[in-house]
Amino acid sequence: MQVQENYSLKKYNTFHIDAYAKHFAAFSDIDGLKLLLKEYSKEPTLILGGGSNVLFTRSFDGLVLKNDVKGIQTVHEDDDHVYVKAGAGENWHRFVLHCIDNNFSGVENLSLIPGNVGASPMQNIGAYGVEVKDVFHSLEAYHMKDHHSLNFTLNDCAFGYRDSVFKKKYKDELVILSVTYRLNKIPQLNISYGAIKEELEKMGVKELGIKAVSQAVINIRRSKLPDPDVIGNAGSFFKNPEVSEREFHELKRIYPETVGFALGTGKVKLAAGWLIEQCGWKGFRRGDAGCHEKQALVLVNYGSASGKDIYDLSEEIKQSVKEKFNVELEREVNII
Ligand SMILES: Cc1cc2nc3c(=O)[nH]c(=O)nc-3n(C[C@H](O)[C@H](O)[C@H](O)COP(=O)(O)OP(=O)(O)OC[C@H]3O[C@@H](n4cnc5c(N)ncnc54)[C@H](O)[C@@H]3O)c2cc1C
Repeated sequence: MQVQENYSLKKYNTFHIDAYAKHFAAFSDIDGLKLLLKEYSKEPTLILGGGSNVLFTRSFDGLVLKNDVKGIQTVHEDDDHVYVKAGAGENWHRFVLHCIDNNFSGVENLSLIPGNVGASPMQNIGAYGVEVKDVFHSLEAYHMKDHHSLNFTLNDCAFGYRDSVFKKKYKDELVILSVTYRLNKIPQLNISYGAIKEELEKMGVKELGIKAVSQAVINIRRSKLPDPDVIGNAGSFFKNPEVSEREFHELKRIYPETVGFALGTGKVKLAAGWLIEQCGWKGFRRGDAGCHEKQALVLVNYGSASGKDIYDLSEEIKQSVKEKFNVELEREVNII
C-alpha cells in the first residue's frame, strides 16, 4: 500500500480543484483500511469516492483515503427480488449497467449519476423520481474512531431528501465498505417524472423496458448537465429548499411565477435553480468561477478557479436569494 505525501487531489475531484493531501492512499479491503488508520491515527481522515460531491476550499492537512473496495455479486434471491452487494469503490453507473444487463430493475432512473457506490447512501442520491432509499437493503461500514464494524438496514439510515444518518450523526466517523440493494425481478417502471416520456417517444422506443428508460435518462442528463470532464462541477450545488405552505403563498403573491412542489406534509419544495436564476446569476462568471449558463443550480470551474473562489460565489448566491425571497439555501456539496 503506497502512501503519497503532499499529493495533488486535482484529478480526484470533479471540480478539478488543485488542493493537496498531506497524505494520500487507496485501500481495497478492510485490512488495508485498518492498517492505514492505525499508522496515521493522529491525523484527521477524509474518505473519498469519486470526488463528485466535494469542494476543496483548502488543502487537507491529514490522510485522504480513496475507497477502492470492488466487487458486485448477487447474495440472495426471493420470488420478487434479487439482492445485489456492491463494493463501495465500484463506480455507480457501472453498477447500474450491471443491473440493467441482468434485468434487475430499480436503479435505471439513477443512470449516469457520477461517483461511487459507497457515497450513494450518504446523501440518498436521487434523480427522476427515484432515490437510493427505494432500493436500499443494507450496508457494511467500519467505525474509524471506535474501530469496529457496523451493519445498517433501511430503518437505521434516516434517509431524507439528500440526507441520511451518515451525513449527520456519523459524519466523518464511518467508512462505508459495501452496500446491498434490493432490486425487482419484475420491472416497475417509473417514467412519469421530468421529460422521460417525451425522450422515450423521441427515441422511437418499441419495447419499453429498463434499458430504454436508462438510455432516456442518459440522453436527458447529457443534454442538460455539464460534463465534469469538460467543465469542473459537482452537479447541483444547493438543495431545493422547503418552505411552509404559508410562506409559499406569500411568495406566490409577490412572485406569481414561483415554482413549487407540494410535499403533502404542509411543506412546499421550491426550485433552487429558479430562485438563483431570478437573482440574475445564471451564466455569471468571475475569473474561472461561474454559474452554469444552462443550469443555474450548477456552479462551475472553467479552469483554474480555487475552491475558495467557488465557495465565495456560492455565499453571494445564498445571500442574494435570502435578500430577494427570504429563503435560505443549503449547500448539497460537501465543503472541505
Ligand atoms: C454532473 C453531476 C451530476 C450529478 N447529479 C446528481 C444527481 O442527479 N443526484 C444526486 O443525488 N447527486 C448527483 N450528483 C452528486 C454526486 O454525483 C453524488 O452525490 C455521488 O453519490 C457522490 O459520489 P462520490 O463517490 O463522488 O462521493 P465523494 O464526492 O467522493 O464524497 C461525497 C461525500 O461522501 C463521503 N464518502 C464518499 N464515499 C464514502 C465512503 N465509502 N464511506 C464514507 N464516506 C464516504 C465523502 O467523505 C464526502 O463527504 C451529481 C454530480 C455531478 C458532478
